[in-house]
Amino acid sequence: MALHAPPKLERYADIPYEEKERLFQEVKADPRFPDYLYGCYECGICVAACPSARFYDFSPRKIAQTLAREDVELFFYQLNEDVWNCSQCFSCNRCPRGNSPGGLITIMREVAVRNGLRSAKEALEGYSRVIYKIMATGTQVSPDMIQADAFPDWGPVAKETADNLELWRKALPPETMHTTSTAWEVSEQTLTELYLIWHMTGVMDMIKEVDEGLHMILLDVMEELLEERGYALAE
Ligand code: SF4
Ligand code: SF4
Repeated sequence: MALHAPPKLERYADIPYEEKERLFQEVKADPRFPDYLYGCYECGICVAACPSARFYDFSPRKIAQTLAREDVELFFYQLNEDVWNCSQCFSCNRCPRGNSPGGLITIMREVAVRNGLRSAKEALEGYSRVIYKIMATGTQVSPDMIQADAFPDWGPVAKETADNLELWRKALPPETMHTTSTAWEVSEQTLTELYLIWHMTGVMDMIKEVDEGLHMILLDVMEELLEERGYALAE
């Protein structure tokens, strides 16, 4: 009798097993892996603590179990589908076995991005503006991103906030937050250090895998500042 993969695994049936195994080994080879997975009691405490498990067909217990059992087919499915449902809150770190399902998911996401998986590109598609903001300015979303068009569910509050943004910002006690195009002032020294860290730790290479256009824009921004401060980026 011919064996068939369960329906959800069939979605990735055309990917060679060797490729799935290669990615699984890349996750296992991460130096954090042994600290994040010690085995699983199947107690479900991580699921009870997980906010994403309430809203999605998602379970940190299944992630830990799949990796512990070395189920390569299910791992590949989770690598493409489940890991993007995690909000990286790490509430699951209360695992009595000492596991960190959220940490395991971090490693899996990094492997998915580093290998340029289509699922990673799709999952991160909507975040390019946020990634640009973080990497170009050193801060995440900026106040001037609050526009009535972007926040229709805020009603008139979004327009009122946008119209009076400078005034609202000046009301904040820390002067470093009297900014509208960044969340707070980031010094050139800090930005330089961030750029160098992102280059040296491979973050820029990961961005290139998922969004080449964004990578080019970021390189331009970074190179200019780094050159001004006497650094040249190696090719
Ligand atoms: S880190 Fe992810 S898996 Fe863990 S509790 Fe938060 S959302 Fe759930
Ligand atoms: S809390 Fe830990 S031991 Fe319990 S199901 Fe989750 S990963 Fe397994």
